[in-house]
Amino acid sequence: MAERKADPTPWGGKPSREDNEVRFQKLFEEADAMSIQGYLPDGTVVYWNRASERIYGYTAAEALGSNLLDLIIPPELHEQTAAAVRAMFETGQGTPPSRLALKHKDGYRVPVYSSHTIVAVPGRSPVMFCMDADMSALDQAEAELRVAAAAFESQQGMLITDAAGVILRVNEAFTRATGYAAAEAVGKTPRLIRSDRQSPEFYRALWQDLRTAGFWQGEIWNQRKNGEVYADWVTISAVKDEQGRVTNYVGTQTDMTQRKNAEAKITRLAFFDPLTQLPNRRLMLDRLQRSVAANLRNHRAGALLFIDVDDFQTLNDTLGHDLGDVLLQQIAQRLSVIVHERDTAARLGGDEFVVLLEDLSSDLTEAAAAAKTVGDTILTSLSQVYHLQEQEYLGSVSLGITLFSKQESSVDELLKQADLALYEAKAAGRNTLRFFDLEMQAAVTRRAALTNGLREGLRRQQFKLFLQPQVNCDGTLVGAEAVVRWHCPIRGLVSPAEFIAVAEESGLILPLGHWVLETACALLATWATQPETAHLTLAVNVSARQFLQADFVDQVVATLDRFQTNPRRLKLELTESLLVDRLDEVIVTMSALKALGLGLALDDFGTGYSSLAYLRHLPLEQLKIDQSFVRDLPADHDSAAIARTIIVLGQTMGLRVLAEGVETQAQRDLLATLGCHYFQGYFFGEPMPTDAFLALTSAAKVDAACATAVPES
Ligand code: C2E
Ligand code: CA
Ligand code: CA
Repeated sequence: MAERKADPTPWGGKPSREDNEVRFQKLFEEADAMSIQGYLPDGTVVYWNRASERIYGYTAAEALGSNLLDLIIPPELHEQTAAAVRAMFETGQGTPPSRLALKHKDGYRVPVYSSHTIVAVPGRSPVMFCMDADMSALDQAEAELRVAAAAFESQQGMLITDAAGVILRVNEAFTRATGYAAAEAVGKTPRLIRSDRQSPEFYRALWQDLRTAGFWQGEIWNQRKNGEVYADWVTISAVKDEQGRVTNYVGTQTDMTQRKNAEAKITRLAFFDPLTQLPNRRLMLDRLQRSVAANLRNHRAGALLFIDVDDFQTLNDTLGHDLGDVLLQQIAQRLSVIVHERDTAARLGGDEFVVLLEDLSSDLTEAAAAAKTVGDTILTSLSQVYHLQEQEYLGSVSLGITLFSKQESSVDELLKQADLALYEAKAAGRNTLRFFDLEMQAAVTRRAALTNGLREGLRRQQFKLFLQPQVNCDGTLVGAEAVVRWHCPIRGLVSPAEFIAVAEESGLILPLGHWVLETACALLATWATQPETAHLTLAVNVSARQFLQADFVDQVVATLDRFQTNPRRLKLELTESLLVDRLDEVIVTMSALKALGLGLALDDFGTGYSSLAYLRHLPLEQLKIDQSFVRDLPADHDSAAIARTIIVLGQTMGLRVLAEGVETQAQRDLLATLGCHYFQGYFFGEPMPTDAFLALTSAAKVDAACATAVPES
């Protein structure tokens, strides 16, 4: 590098005009924004002004005498630069100005706008002058602008106003959200998108914040061009100049509609029933809880109404679930019309609805009357005809009501009470309402105690089978009906009339029924070994719930097998309630039992849903005339007429007819005259322990008198 150093005096010779030269020299030296360098054809630096020192990092002392290529030309540009310099000196022409990235002493690149001029003075070595303007600051500013522009076109709506609030610019997102194009917004104020949901005070407070803090953020209801009002999350910042004066405001806005919608949807899902849009169980319980607390405080009574659709299952089974859903929706609509705003109609699930009446009255009687009025309105409204798509449907509901007031009752208790009252309403024949009262409560307590007692009794084998004789026309013992007895150590001997219903409700009828079946089969097996008893039949009562078990036939088969019982001696007594629904299933089971050889009797005939239509389809062997038609014989003509009809019906269908509850000779005689062949009742014997029954079998005739009254048939 040292050998390249040549004449270090750039300004050889005498200037023609001294003044100018001094001035130009000073200008060159001090031109602040412009790096000016001078080079000989071989690249030796002969001039290096102050700006060059700053821009490239070399002092004049370091630069002078050094070579251009070593100083500021990045290695990758060496060849190209050398060629360009050579060409310039050859032609005497500079190259057009261009942007270059040259090298700083510290190694980084300096962006410059560079122009080159060959200054040739006769008699002197030509010199190439380079004038480089430093572009770093400008580039930086441009880059910042680019970033700012990109940021401005972000997903958030943005607007910039002047100090007076007049819109200068809006971005694309603003246009997307509000519907106003930039041209429509610029020149207006943000009042353009104001809705009337915010009060003037709101805006006053906003401006107050902006003035004092220079910043505001919060939710604002804005209005789109199409009139739609929406929630905007807005931030506004004041932009100030060096003197602290506000020059602009920059506002950003985020449309909250989607988020609000999502939130609303989540709330709806959590607290409302999707099918009917009514509050769901959760929301209802919450309101009930609060209502109970409030009514305690203000000593006013409220009411809880449980509503259950009558025969909903049947509707679902016959018309399909879709129409079932439509019915539920229409019920919900009708309920919403009836129920006041401050009260709640909710859907608990399935076909159960609930109405919560709050703040009825401080007087309990008045509150009850008010609740009854609403209840009656509900009953009337919900029993009007429904239009389920094309179908007309006549539905009804049952209602259970409980009141709550001063005395502290838990939500759980209230639900139980209303449910109980509902149960009573159902039992009372549907399309009706019942209030919960203390007697009901007592009955429930009794029922619960009885259930526990029964469970205990089953475990401790406190049950016995009693047998009641069944005789034919000439008084010959043909068999017995087995009726169960409970020897409860606390209650004494309890009649099945008291506990069968409870056993059915609790499901205990299943183990109990099974025990009866086993005991009866075991008994028949021992009878089969003795000539006096081998021909006798034994009838057992079978509850609907027991009969409807999917494996009932299997249970019967297994039990018969176990005791090696002759199926022809076993009879099952079924009640008409069994035939109310699932008739097809019932017939299949009955047929299977009949195929096994069992006899099937229809118990309590005439009391139930007697439909003669179905009777033909049932594989029955016997009809039992209910005791209620026997009781008033022979005096009561209606009873006699019914008994006669049943007997004729049985005969035409080839069924044996047995009269139950025969207590007198006169009853027996009349029934026999009407054509009845079999009898059972206190006249022939009350239900008795098996031993007592065995004693009877040795007597030839149970009722000797009978023989004289046998009609010729
Ligand atoms: P049920 O099947 O109609 O049984 C006949 C009922 O009438 C018996 O009452 C019997 O004691 C009574 N009874 C018989 N003859 C006369 C009479 O001449 N006059 C009067 N007033 N009553 C008479 P019990 O034993 O109290 O049974 C009541 C009901 O309990 C039975 O009515 C039956 O439905 C049910 N039950 C009894 N045992 C069982 C059982 O093992 N399983 C099932 N599922 N139910 C049973
Ligand atoms: Ca019976
Ligand atoms: Ca009966």
